[in-house]
Amino acid sequence: MTSPIMPTYNRLPVTFDRGEGAWLFDENNTRYLDALSGIAVCNLGHAHPAVHQAICQQSAKLLHTSNIYRIAAQERLAELLTAASGMDNVFFSNSGAEANEAAIKLARKYGHDKGIEKPAVIVMEKSFHGRTLATLSATGNSKIQQGFAPLVEGFVRVPYNNIAAIAAAIADNASIVAVLVEPVQGEGGVNIPAPDYLNQIRDLCDQHGLLMMLDEIQTGIGRTGQFFAFQHNGILPDVCTLAKALGNGVPIGACLAHGKAGEVFQAGNHGSTFGGNPLACSAAIAVLTTLADEGLIAQASLKGKAIYDGFVARLQANPQVLDIRHKGLMIGIELARPCADLVKLALAQQLLINVTNDTTIRLLPPLVIDEQQIQLLVDTLSTLINEFTA
Ligand SMILES: *Cc1c(COP(=O)(O)O)cnc(C)c1O
Repeated sequence: MTSPIMPTYNRLPVTFDRGEGAWLFDENNTRYLDALSGIAVCNLGHAHPAVHQAICQQSAKLLHTSNIYRIAAQERLAELLTAASGMDNVFFSNSGAEANEAAIKLARKYGHDKGIEKPAVIVMEKSFHGRTLATLSATGNSKIQQGFAPLVEGFVRVPYNNIAAIAAAIADNASIVAVLVEPVQGEGGVNIPAPDYLNQIRDLCDQHGLLMMLDEIQTGIGRTGQFFAFQHNGILPDVCTLAKALGNGVPIGACLAHGKAGEVFQAGNHGSTFGGNPLACSAAIAVLTTLADEGLIAQASLKGKAIYDGFVARLQANPQVLDIRHKGLMIGIELARPCADLVKLALAQQLLINVTNDTTIRLLPPLVIDEQQIQLLVDTLSTLINEFTA
């Protein structure tokens, strides 16, 4: 039977019907532990009552007007995000790729305003920034670019976690206007850079008048144990993008700017029909309020450490386990061989995980995961890994 869905995804043979916190239930009411959160989206878990209530209340009043009018929920959300980050202003989009498109356009206009005709942005190997033409061109993964040439020009690629390479690229090219980088690479394999990597990028950008642009679409909204991952470094970027967990499943993205970057876009430079509409913004306000009320960001640090310690205890004697790493609840377990098959083996045990970059198991559990669920995750997955590698 042919499917009416374009086959852009290899789907696992399971359909979920409902969720509750870190649990998902399929159509037969079988319960699964979700250690992926819809890829870093449902940080508050599934069916959180605060998000449910916000959506219900807003939809009873108003779903959409237009960005040609003022939108109270959008203004409130922008206040919360600028207060949480120290950034100055926000453009709202509907997805991560669109948030990065805004950042890339902003960088180009920043360059043109300075008289640079062909502005270029430094991007990283193994990065992921989305699937639109500009963002896949910025992405450091040839599989994602394959078949879509000609790519968007104006990107200069350097190795991740290598400050000298950025400095050399800047010295080499007078058209560089910005550096776009993930604080921790998600799709690229949960790659955690040196602790002062972002600080050094900040210094280089300051020295050369470049925009430091952070893609926090996966690392943001508490995932790493700070609201924004850059807050571990005590710096402010010039531009920062969010999406994924911002709406806990309601589609919304954001491009935040600070200082001179916040003055680049003027009326008519960028736009979106749905971006920042009342429904999406109400959901996001509920997300931010709940993160604070439930103390979930501090919990991301503690729970991430507990999961990490659990895996170290169970896996450190296994020579096939090359590395276990984490920043808050962004967890990677790197094996000595390809392990995509582990996803199905885990599914058969009612555990949802992900494998990225061929050999790295990636875990992004909801911030509301509890102690018993952490124990179940560590026990089930450690046993699976030890069997798989035996
Ligand atoms: C998921 C992701 C994106 C793309 O977000 P979409 O909402 O799928 O467009 C961009 N950057 C990073 C770091 C991501 O993890």
